[in-house]
Amino acid sequence: MSSPETLVIIGSGPAGWSAATYAARAQLKPLVYEGAISEKNRMAGTLPLGQLALTSEVENYAGFPHGDLGGFLDSALPKERRMMMPPHEGKGVTGPELMELMRQQASNFGTRIVTDDILKVDFSARPFKLFPAEGGVVEAKCVIVATGASANWLGLPSEEKFKNRGVSACAVCDGALPRFRNKPIVVVGGGDSAVEEATYLTKFASTVHLVHRRDELRASKIMATRAHENPKISIHFNTALAEVLGDDTSGVTGVRLASTVEPTREKTVEATGVFLAIGHTPNTAFLDGQLELTPKKYIVWKRHFRTATSVDGVFAAGDVADDYYRQAISAAGTGCMSALDAERWLAEHDGH
Ligand code: NAP
Repeated sequence: MSSPETLVIIGSGPAGWSAATYAARAQLKPLVYEGAISEKNRMAGTLPLGQLALTSEVENYAGFPHGDLGGFLDSALPKERRMMMPPHEGKGVTGPELMELMRQQASNFGTRIVTDDILKVDFSARPFKLFPAEGGVVEAKCVIVATGASANWLGLPSEEKFKNRGVSACAVCDGALPRFRNKPIVVVGGGDSAVEEATYLTKFASTVHLVHRRDELRASKIMATRAHENPKISIHFNTALAEVLGDDTSGVTGVRLASTVEPTREKTVEATGVFLAIGHTPNTAFLDGQLELTPKKYIVWKRHFRTATSVDGVFAAGDVADDYYRQAISAAGTGCMSALDAERWLAEHDGH
């Protein structure tokens, strides 16, 4: 077998790319497993480039105010990847644009990128072993886990039945489909994601019914105000999605909603789509218990304000280790920290 990789980074959101940029500039020759492009990952919300690639405009990433980024994107990105992206709209940077720029920046410094998933790891001995979906084993002296988190589902049988036929957890991916044009749509959730999805969907839908289980939104003030002031958004407080209604020919045709304060009170609302925006679960299942996790399955950082995990030589960055801030910029920040931690650890243990 060839000699082990110095540093493998698993994951390709803001944490993964910023770790890669720092590590590549430090001559660690990082290898990034960015995830596979597959239907399975599309449905699970774990395609390459992470959750930010599933959002629309990003207004709060420092350094990207409103402006025309078209020319910058044209010059910064390779033609073949730029061609795959929609034209820039001349507002703020979009999530997919920001992620392409981060990927390119890491690549410019020599980061090697494999478009595949790591399905399994063996952290019981060094060098660590990583098992990619396409087969074989990759050995690594040091690993950064930056696999992020993916969207939650309610777990209703009717939700499962109509996935891909009107039920989705990604408005930006699916919102423009013809079935949603000028038709009522339901969004479930009360956080920033739910409001962002609802607002985005008003571009296409006749009405967006925002269904939230409590009597006030969890979303930040600015986002909540937007939802309240948007005439196309109708908010149903104290309400839960009880069932997605539909048939084999049309897919989703409506929803049955139940009151969360008077369980017997129900109503039916007509809709061609249901978008779930009810939070996220960290992508840690592939670790199979080899790193210490919190009760909510996030990776535990073992030292205060350091990215070291319970296994010496394995670091974690971004949403996979953060159930509190969960912002693109904080993920990028901890990505940077993990690369610096990895560099120092390698210097101590491997003479780098
Ligand atoms: P979140 O803040 O955790 O909100 C999840 C929402 O889903 C909550 O309103 C929650 O209800 C509801 N929910 C959870 N489980 C549910 C269930 N089983 N049934 C019904 N409702 C359920 O998640 P998020 O909105 O995805 O946001 C995650 C993080 O990303 C946050 O830190 C947020 O600020 C950030 N974010 C920021 C932006 C932005 O700044 N533009 C955009 C998107 C996300 P309760 O309120 O009752 O708990």
